Amino acid sequence: MKHSYHCKFCGKPGEVEYEPVQEFKLQIKKWLEIICCDRCGKFHEEKRLVQDRIFANCMVVIQTKKVQPRPKNADQILASLRTRISNRCIEFAELVCNHLKIQTVNDPAFADMLMDRPDMVNIICGKYFNGLRRQFRREYQKPHND
Ligand SMILES: [Zn+2]
Repeated sequence: MKHSYHCKFCGKPGEVEYEPVQEFKLQIKKWLEIICCDRCGKFHEEKRLVQDRIFANCMVVIQTKKVQPRPKNADQILASLRTRISNRCIEFAELVCNHLKIQTVNDPAFADMLMDRPDMVNIICGKYFNGLRRQFRREYQKPHND
């Protein structure tokens, strides 16, 4: 059976095919509300992967800051983590901005915030993405043809 849907992220119309199993038929309305187009699906998957890597680095920052007594090379370790996080932030910004089809907006403060509050990594990444999405709402919600 075929059913038309709109991507839950960008609103692009699409069509899905499914096996008409009775139990599934009852769920179809709910299911149609949560599916997205390939472009948005791929983007959100990649975004999660980059965010997971930023998260892993932030966990090391937390551990490094906790070690007592403070190791002699703590500053060196933190500086290297900052570089890694900063590179991942650029990757994250490029991914989001490419998806929104805007010029990459990467604020170095993004990495500073993460170094400062590594425990807030998911909130900080979410704020960055939501800020741009809100700012470029029209581009984001415009159905894309690729
Ligand atoms: Zn979409």
